[in-house]
Amino acid sequence: MNCNNDYILTAISNDGNVIGYFSSTKESATLAQKSHSMNIVSSALFAQAMNAVVLLSGNLKNKEDYLSATWNCTGNAKKIYVESDYLGNTRGFIENTNLEYIEDSITDNGFNSEPYLKMGEISVLRQSFSGKAPYNSVVLIETGEIPQDISLFLEQSLQVQSIISIGLSISEHNYINASGGLLIMGLPGVTEIEMKNVYDKFSSLGSVRDLLLKEKHNVIEFFNSLDMSIIDEKPVQFQCRCTEEKVLQSLKKLDDKELNEFLNKNNQYEVCCHYCNKQYSINKNFRSM
Ligand SMILES: [Zn+2]
Repeated sequence: MNCNNDYILTAISNDGNVIGYFSSTKESATLAQKSHSMNIVSSALFAQAMNAVVLLSGNLKNKEDYLSATWNCTGNAKKIYVESDYLGNTRGFIENTNLEYIEDSITDNGFNSEPYLKMGEISVLRQSFSGKAPYNSVVLIETGEIPQDISLFLEQSLQVQSIISIGLSISEHNYINASGGLLIMGLPGVTEIEMKNVYDKFSSLGSVRDLLLKEKHNVIEFFNSLDMSIIDEKPVQFQCRCTEEKVLQSLKKLDDKELNEFLNKNNQYEVCCHYCNKQYSINKNFRSM
């Protein structure tokens, strides 16, 4: 399964005061669901977090740069981790892959994450190799709704005004029909009135979910009607960096007692990648091979 149709668009306002990102990630969300054997509730919550991170990664500048966010929460989701790099490679996991549905959390317009997250904190790490200082910022989960909390994070930690909306559509057979999001950020010099104008226009144009169910040219038209032009497009894919070699390296760091925890009855070490759930079987005698 591949994610050839997933993308992130970057757009800039004609006056240069506002930058926007639009993600479409149905195939990545579906691949994540399959890789981690998540039920639809966990998949929807993970997709929301994934889109937030993909959107925040939109302005990474260098091939090695990546951004990650971790939600550690008191709700049943317990923990969500997502990272995305400059090339759109995105991976991560949700600790509870089988969340029980809480009434009214899936709506016509999307998904309410608050009942599953409740309280806790969000840690955002941006690893940059382009001369920009890396940052690691921890904020409280204030509303429990992923888009709102990311907007608060941008305001509190980076003094950036933003509008963020994440859209999801779930089929009656519990498949993800659409997954994506929109992030609009004020650049230095933007006024509150300008941001309000963008917000009012955006609100009058319909929902992100509706846009995701249309064609890409509709998204481009949507930006044009906000007086914004597309300046970049990149692919997005749920893809991990793990390899057998990296697994071997990490096993070599363990002592015999720790290693035995991974030993199965066929005398193979069974190791599962946390980020993508891929299984590796390593010969017990790997040290002498
Ligand atoms: Zn992996």
